[in-house]
Amino acid sequence: MIKFENVSKKYPDGTIAVNNLNIEIKQGEFFVFIGPSGSGKTTSLKMINQLIRHTDGHIFINGQKNTDYDLYPLRWNIGYVLQQIALFPHMTIEENISVVPELKKWPKEKMHKRAHELLEMVGLDPKSYALRKPHQLSGGEQQRVGVLRALAIDPDIILMDEPFSALDPISREKLQDDLIALMQNLNKTTVFVTHDMQEALKLADRIGIINEGKLVQVGTPDELIHEPVNEFVKKFVGGSDEFAVQNINIADMMMPLPKVVDKSMKSISASATLDNILVSLAETEQLTIEEDGKTIGMINHKAVIQYLATKSEQERWQRYE
Ligand code: ADP
Ligand code: MG
Repeated sequence: MIKFENVSKKYPDGTIAVNNLNIEIKQGEFFVFIGPSGSGKTTSLKMINQLIRHTDGHIFINGQKNTDYDLYPLRWNIGYVLQQIALFPHMTIEENISVVPELKKWPKEKMHKRAHELLEMVGLDPKSYALRKPHQLSGGEQQRVGVLRALAIDPDIILMDEPFSALDPISREKLQDDLIALMQNLNKTTVFVTHDMQEALKLADRIGIINEGKLVQVGTPDELIHEPVNEFVKKFVGGSDEFAVQNINIADMMMPLPKVVDKSMKSISASATLDNILVSLAETEQLTIEEDGKTIGMINHKAVIQYLATKSEQERWQRYE
């Protein structure tokens, strides 16, 4: 369906954003690219519909090189959902959904029917929503319309670049659930980009982990959890966000075990994220740290605070980039 064959992207300034990518995404599959910020996810996604042109290798869509398609029909037939909610503010919801049908010169009645049908599919009553302007919708509702817009002409392929990352955690989970329900019936090939492992594990049929432009591992959520090819994947899958992956090393804040370990003490995995640790320490004074079934150390509030306080300024900033 979508095949990357030795694909690389070198930007004019010399940055190699994607380095010899080989992947075959199957028909009907929900494929998730995940990696830290700057790893080449957006570049990989945008090369599919040629919003970015690859500099080496080939991308095949249904067996034909994407560079051999006419550009605009190619883009129209690949739905695209952006991170930022990108609805046109002066247009109604119905008009926003109908942007691509309009470009394809669909008859008015067909466009109208399709917009209403789509709104119903995600539980937005067209009678109430079709004629509203985007600012009259919540962030979650607007992003739902963003997804509908990508589905309007029923494309075979949908690309999504961190579509839910600007939403609050509750709206985000709701939209993930809705997306799963929506996609189950549609049999689209979906390529979804995220830096959030929980989101990837929840949505994906298969996940491709990239780091510094290179594919580190491809597999089902189960395979990544149980058969990580290296330490990077292990940490990434164990952690819940990129801060955890790049910056937290529990060993650096670990205290040695006392001679007698209180058996009632709760434990936490050595691959826990900072968030996991903080949540657990909100309930208890101290925790033991477990690795491969062994208790290897201890951690408490003070150790965490000291660790964070002594981290370099630069590293702390990375968390907020
Ligand atoms: P991600 O989506 O994983 O955060 P990107 O694909 O946006 O990563 O970027 C990958 C790398 O390419 C980064 O190092 C980024 O700085 C660089 N990059 C992205 N766009 C450009 C550009 N237009 N010119 C030069 N470098 C770029
Ligand atoms: Mg990106």
